[in-house]
Amino acid sequence: MTFSVHGIAVARGIAIGRAVVMGSGRADVAHYFIEPAQIDAEIERVRVGRNAVTEEIHRLQHTIAGMGPKEAPHELSALLDVHLMLLEDEDLISGVKHWITERLYNAEWALTTQLEVLARQFDDMEDEYLRERKADLEQVAERILRYMKGMSSPVAQPPSPRRKTQQDLLLDDSVDVPLVLVAHDLSPADMLQFKQSVFAGFVTDVGGKTSHTAIVARSMDIPAVVGSRSASHLVRQDDWVIIDGDCGVMIVDPSPIILAEYGFKQRQAELERGRLSRLLHTPAVTLDGQKIELLANIEQPEDAEAALKAGAAGVGLFRSEFLFMGRKGRMPDEEEQYHAYRKAIEGMQGLPVTIRTIDVGADKPLDESRRDAAHLNPALGLRAIRWSLSEPDMFRTQLRAILRSAVHGKVNLLVPMLAHGSEIRQTLSLIDFARAELDNRGVAYGPVQLGAMIEIPAAALSLRTFLKYFDFLSIGTNDLIQYTLAIDRADESVAHLYDPCHPAVLGLVADTITECLRQGKGVSVCGEMAGDTQFTRLLLGLGLRSFSMHPAQILAVKQEVLRADTARLAPWARQVLESDEPSQALGA
Ligand code: PEP
Ligand code: MG
Repeated sequence: MTFSVHGIAVARGIAIGRAVVMGSGRADVAHYFIEPAQIDAEIERVRVGRNAVTEEIHRLQHTIAGMGPKEAPHELSALLDVHLMLLEDEDLISGVKHWITERLYNAEWALTTQLEVLARQFDDMEDEYLRERKADLEQVAERILRYMKGMSSPVAQPPSPRRKTQQDLLLDDSVDVPLVLVAHDLSPADMLQFKQSVFAGFVTDVGGKTSHTAIVARSMDIPAVVGSRSASHLVRQDDWVIIDGDCGVMIVDPSPIILAEYGFKQRQAELERGRLSRLLHTPAVTLDGQKIELLANIEQPEDAEAALKAGAAGVGLFRSEFLFMGRKGRMPDEEEQYHAYRKAIEGMQGLPVTIRTIDVGADKPLDESRRDAAHLNPALGLRAIRWSLSEPDMFRTQLRAILRSAVHGKVNLLVPMLAHGSEIRQTLSLIDFARAELDNRGVAYGPVQLGAMIEIPAAALSLRTFLKYFDFLSIGTNDLIQYTLAIDRADESVAHLYDPCHPAVLGLVADTITECLRQGKGVSVCGEMAGDTQFTRLLLGLGLRSFSMHPAQILAVKQEVLRADTARLAPWARQVLESDEPSQALGA
């Protein structure tokens, strides 16, 4: 039966494929396709893992048999019996074989997929005792996975993603169909791991439009919907689904008529991409001759390639925190960071690169296990520069790495979430300290332009202080909206109130641009507003000449730039600002 699930649209386009429903915490498992010749070896890997766990349990049973009831209560032995039974379960074994043989999933992926199928069956059981056995099943699978981690996969390199875009794919039940990932939650680090993956689209139950998970999904340029609340419960493993990333809808088990319609939309979107690609070498100049700088936001040094391909004039925001995430507490040292920054700089072939110092906290935990549960309000807590200043050794390590990388190209150093004069002065003195440390060690470093992000209303209201110290400002509208309107950007339940057009937000953006222009300082917008074509004309009218966005958005924004006349847009933008309902005046 066809039904739809509604969420928040975060990344454009249509994906049609089979659902891969992923349980919480399963994202760190590798997902790739194997070659048919590797089927037997993958099945063998699971078999060896399962046998090892079985043996381990037998050994444990043997040990506790010699213990008294105090040290080894009877329940423990009964529990081990249950685990052994689950390990022998025919549904587990045949299911895993099915995913490997029929779908060519790698062993870990096949095991976790079958785990999801069985977990649903346990959830549906009437008997409470049996329902609770789901936890045992998960433990057993976890142990097999741990064993398999120690065994190298016969597949050296994950093959490239398989994507088909024609709706007639649905008639083809072969392995070669697109897959879309449906999960309760994916952390930004999980998302990043899926960047080179097999998935053609994403749906998550939680998240807001500018949550970092959504931002990474957008950077992957594949359709995505977040905040769908219950998608991961309603969709079953392997269901056919359509993701409409423009409208924020997932259609499950679509009828042939719906499929035909979405197949058509998909082809239209491809044509539009083709049209936009013709603008690649066209300079971004408005009708009245204003040169506009279109920069890229990147998360990893490797993204420089996509930035160059999209015709970016440089990197306006390198979110360096992604180098630090998901590493189980082991921070990259100065050398590793230096090489990563250098790689991004060299990748941009002489174009400027703006490296933002680490911005962790809130919805970007360093590690899933360290998710900030201890703090009631992590978005208002020890985040970004606040965290850096509380860890001065770590911060100076990063500063030294960035300063050293500046030998290899034009580098701007950008500091996130500053609000206080004292934070600014502390930051600047740590930068001086980092330079002095490099001098003492006799290590070369290069000049950097210093910039601050304007993301907190207090910063936007104290521009004079900021401009006294910094060469340029970069407006982080994602956070500026969050903090001006007191809306958690990652919380789907208040997503309808997250409004870039709120007069207070637009006023702060406009004042920041105006003051920078007046003082002859550089200013850009690097939040999601910069890549949203709804706002291009308004920002141009407010005087903005530098936009930083995901590479995939550059050509669409360029198209708006080419059609714009800033002399005409300026008075119109003022009217929008003065309106009680700017979104209506804007037509957004
Ligand atoms: C912003 O807040 O607009 C921004 C660009 O930074 P981030 O999204 O990483 O918080
Ligand atoms: Mg921010």
